[in-house]
Amino acid sequence: MENYETYDYDVLVIGAGGAGLRAVIAAREAGCRVAVVCKSLLGKAHTVMAEGGVAAALGNMDQPDGTKEPDSWEVHFVDTMKGGAFLNNWRMVEIFTKEAPERVLELEQYGAVFDRTPDGLIAERPFGGHKYRRLNHVGDRTGLEIIRTLQDKAVSLGIDVFMEVVITRLLKDGDRVVGAFGYYRESGNFIVFRAKAIVLATGGWGRMYRYTSNSWEGTGDGVMMAFEAGAELLDMEMVQFHPTGMVWPPGMRGILVTEGVRGEGGILRNGKGERFMFNPKYMPELYRGQFAETEEEAERWLTDKQNNRRPPELLPRDVVSRAIYREVEEGRGSEHGGVYLDISHRGADYIKRKLPSMYEQFHALGDVDITKQPMEVYPTIHYTMGGVKVDPETCATTVPGLYAAGEVAAGLHGANRLGGNSLSDILVFGKRAGEHAALYAKTVNLGKIDEQQIAEEEDYLLLPLETKEGENPYDIHRELQETMQKHAMIARTEKGLLEALEKIQELQKRAEHLHVDGDRCFNPGWHAAREIRFMLKTSEIIVRCALERKESRGAQWRLDYPDRDDEFWGKHNLIAVKDGQHIKIEPRPLPEMPERLKALFK
Ligand code: FAD
Repeated sequence: MENYETYDYDVLVIGAGGAGLRAVIAAREAGCRVAVVCKSLLGKAHTVMAEGGVAAALGNMDQPDGTKEPDSWEVHFVDTMKGGAFLNNWRMVEIFTKEAPERVLELEQYGAVFDRTPDGLIAERPFGGHKYRRLNHVGDRTGLEIIRTLQDKAVSLGIDVFMEVVITRLLKDGDRVVGAFGYYRESGNFIVFRAKAIVLATGGWGRMYRYTSNSWEGTGDGVMMAFEAGAELLDMEMVQFHPTGMVWPPGMRGILVTEGVRGEGGILRNGKGERFMFNPKYMPELYRGQFAETEEEAERWLTDKQNNRRPPELLPRDVVSRAIYREVEEGRGSEHGGVYLDISHRGADYIKRKLPSMYEQFHALGDVDITKQPMEVYPTIHYTMGGVKVDPETCATTVPGLYAAGEVAAGLHGANRLGGNSLSDILVFGKRAGEHAALYAKTVNLGKIDEQQIAEEEDYLLLPLETKEGENPYDIHRELQETMQKHAMIARTEKGLLEALEKIQELQKRAEHLHVDGDRCFNPGWHAAREIRFMLKTSEIIVRCALERKESRGAQWRLDYPDRDDEFWGKHNLIAVKDGQHIKIEPRPLPEMPERLKALFK
């Protein structure tokens, strides 16, 4: 075993996206010594890529004349539960919808500058599945403003930041998590953190799919470290396809086209020019009567939102993704195998003001002028609703000392996340995780670090460099992406999922013998060798859970079980937990919603 640096903290936060930074602020304000670690540079997380906005029922837009039901946490609650196909943890949704407005206003106090209404209030835009305009935004660069603000605030409080450090294992003392082990990306040198409490805020995982809006960081490290440490995972089969990823040019496939485009009036048409979302077969029973039924009404909604219903392009993401998939499968796709999304009718000035990044993205990457031409889009892997199971009040995982918040955690979004709800999720539960980790840290001493665990992880990391011959991690990654894209995609069947499982198991065997050239300095191949093993295990759990849930609900669309099963599966989450060398997967009854909240649906 070689020498490594060791640092001691009260609270260690792994991940510097919005969830991590909000946790850092809370733990520091509670008087703790805090450090944050991130795989890339500070400010480069997925949070910075967020475009459309942060959902919170501020009610700034839709009830000026008092004739309509005003926006409120209750309406946001109903929308989020419906969007999640009722698989959500009701208590998380209640906390979230009640606290989201406060968290957004607090961002303003920290210095965030949102777009404004003519009256000077924060401007809110419509988004899929939200009854009212509720997406507080900064053009289509909301994530950038949020991360800038949180970063300034966190750093001003006096914290330690470890950038370009990859954590690969949580260290335990008995049942309790007491530290974390990792390495510097630049030098490959090892580093150990001892901490009284750890907040996991490592974000989601999309890189095991071929087409994804996620960056290179989304490899499932955090969720798998928690799993290996014994934490329960929840509903891992629920992986969200965003309906609109870029299709063309090929190298750009999967890059996100924000839902803000549809929120600002973007129209979806198939290759025959039909506005297919008006086809009644795509309207779920739950939403019937709540959306515009003619193109004329949708047109009027653009200028009069009080007296007209939303266009069906603003149905939740799972619904729109399935509709696009169907159109393409049935031969009504666009030139390059997607459908068309057109915003040009809103005029160049409006588009450049409200959607500047989209304008630049298509202009620079695809040579398409979206003020004049439609975009081509197709569903892309975007978000993970499943993840580490947490207590709604405290964000504690099932492992003492370990807390989780943001996309790595699960329970809030059920079977399908509504757009905008992630940015408010990371603020609400990031704060709670930091506060409760701090409270816990005050009740314990630093734990004992087990050198054996460090030695094991060192060997595991170094093996691909020390082996003379073996598999290339990039080859395994490419084959995994093809498998997941083909069989664990938007439409799933038992046959396809079993094929995927078999292939993943073959890849896992091959991944036991990886070989990487070079040494530990600046060696992306070496990083890939660790990441592929996280991704293979994550994929195995996704596929096993998708096989187990024999129904269609939200993001889980089983062609062989096309109906929702409200009797059994609608009342059960799927829990995955480590059981020796095996993965135990079992349905667990959802907590029962109290009558006072059930009444909101009447
Ligand atoms: P992230 O922001 O992903 O941060 C994860 C952090 O963990 C990073 O700092 C990373 O370096 C670190 N990390 C990961 N693994 C390790 C490791 N092994 N060791 C050390 N550090 C590690 N949501 C909305 O609500 N509204 C939107 O408009 C919106 N638009 C989006 C647009 C795009 C293109 C994308 C990709 C997502 C969008 N989302 C949106 C989703 C939202 O941005 C994310 O769900 C959210 O930002 C996740 O925040 P997080 O803090 O949980 O994780």
